[in-house]
Amino acid sequence: MKTYISLWPAHAAELPFPRNLAILGSTGSIGVSALSVVARHPDLFRVVALAGGRNARRLAEQATALRPGVLAVLDAATAAELKALLPVGYHPEILVGPTAFETVAALPGADLVLSAIVGAAGFLPTLAAARAGKRIALANKESLVLGGRLIRAACRASGAVILPVDSEHNAIFQALAGHDGAHDDTGNDTELAKLLLTASGGPFHGRDAAFLAAVTPAQALSHPNWSMGPKISVDSATLMNKGLEVIEACHLFGLPVAQVEVLVHPQSIVHSLVEYVDGSQLAHLGLPDMRIPIAHCLCYPKRVSLGMPRLNLASAASLTFEAPDETLFPCLGLAKAAYGASHSHPVALNAANEVAVDLFLQGRIGFLDIPRLIEAALARHTALPENCGAAELLAADAATRRETLASVSNETTRPAQPTREE
Ligand code: NAD
Ligand code: MG
Repeated sequence: MKTYISLWPAHAAELPFPRNLAILGSTGSIGVSALSVVARHPDLFRVVALAGGRNARRLAEQATALRPGVLAVLDAATAAELKALLPVGYHPEILVGPTAFETVAALPGADLVLSAIVGAAGFLPTLAAARAGKRIALANKESLVLGGRLIRAACRASGAVILPVDSEHNAIFQALAGHDGAHDDTGNDTELAKLLLTASGGPFHGRDAAFLAAVTPAQALSHPNWSMGPKISVDSATLMNKGLEVIEACHLFGLPVAQVEVLVHPQSIVHSLVEYVDGSQLAHLGLPDMRIPIAHCLCYPKRVSLGMPRLNLASAASLTFEAPDETLFPCLGLAKAAYGASHSHPVALNAANEVAVDLFLQGRIGFLDIPRLIEAALARHTALPENCGAAELLAADAATRRETLASVSNETTRPAQPTREE
C-alpha cells in the first residue's frame, strides 16, 4: 500500500490563512523555533492553544505574547504557577494532566497542530489529532515508532494529513514533489528505488569504543551542528535518532526498511535524498536550522522568508558522505531489527531507549549501556497481536520501562560513572 499517497489527500493543499495553530510542546526546542516563525509571519497564524510540560515561566511568556484561549500543562503545580504569571485581564482555559494534550490536539478551533512533545508522551496527542482530522506538522517521531499503524489508519479514516517536521523526512517530502506515486497492482511504488537518510554522525563520529565507554552526558549533549532538546541530542550521539527516523520514514513513505538507507554526512547540509529507478537522486540542501522544515510544514505549500542567512555553497566546506559504523553505534541496527521483528518491537525499543537515555543523563549508566539495555529489552519482548490497539501498545511501553529500570537496579556491579571530560 502506497502510504505516502494515502496520507496526502487532494484537499490537503487548501488550508486557508490565517491558520488556527495549536502547539503541543511549545516550550521545547521545536516549539520555540516554531513560535519564532509565527512571530515573523503573524498574519499567517492565529495561535489558539499552547501546551507545555512543566516550564510555567516560558509558557507564561509565550501565552502573554500570543493570548491563546487554551493552555495545557502536565500537573496542577505548574498550572498554579502559570496562572500566577499571566497578566491581569487574560483568563485562558488552563487544562491539566496528560489527557489535556489530547484535548488540545483535537480542539475544534484548531486546524493545524504542531506535535512537538518529546518521547512516547506525544503518541496519544498525535493519535487524537489524527482521529480529529487535523493537519499535523509532526516533529514527535516517537509517536510513529510506537503506533505508526494506528496513526496511519486514523489519518486514512479522518482525512488528517501529516507533514514531516523532522528535517530528513521533510527533505524527502520535498524531494518527492511531482512524484505521482505510480504503483503496480499490489500497491508497490514502481518508480521510487530508495530513500537516503543523512545523519551527522553526532558528537562522537570517528571516536573509538574506549572513548565512547567514558563519555559524559555533557559531551553527548553538545551536538556539532544542531541545537536540540536533551533527549534527541543523546539519541543523535548513539545514532538511535537515525534508527527511530528509519522507522518514521517507513511509516511516512510506505517503503520497507530495506529501501531506507542511512548515510553519514557530518556537515548536515544535505538533509536527505530520494533515489528513483532511473538512477536520479534528488536531494534537499539547506543550513541546519529547524526553522526551515518547521516553516515549510506550517505554511505548506506556501514558502516564506525566514530572515536568516541562506546556504552559500561556494563558501561551504566540502560535503562528505560515508556509511555508518553500526558496530560502534549498534542502536541503528537495533532499530532496524526491531522494525523487522514485529509491529510492537519498536514499542520496546523506544521505551527502553527513553529509560536508558534518562539514566545516562542522570549519570547512573554509561553511554555504552544504552544499546545494551535496549538489546535486552528487545530480547524480552513478545510480539503483540497485529490488530492490537493503543492501550496494548502503551501497556507494552510501560512494562518495558519497568523491566529496564529493574534490570539496572538489580545489577550487582553497577557501570562506572563516566569521568572523562573533553
Ligand atoms: P524538548 O525537550 O526541547 O521539548 C519537549 C517539549 O515537550 C517541551 O515543551 C516539554 O515541556 C514537553 N514535554 C516533555 N514531556 C512531556 C510530557 N510528558 N507531556 C507533555 N509535554 C511534555 O524536545 P525537542 O528537541 O523540541 O523535541 C521535540 C520532538 O521533536 C521530539 O520528538 C524530537 O525527536 C523531535 N525533533 C526535534 C528536533 C530538534 O531539532 N529539536 C528535530 C527533529 C525532531
Ligand atoms: Mg532528524
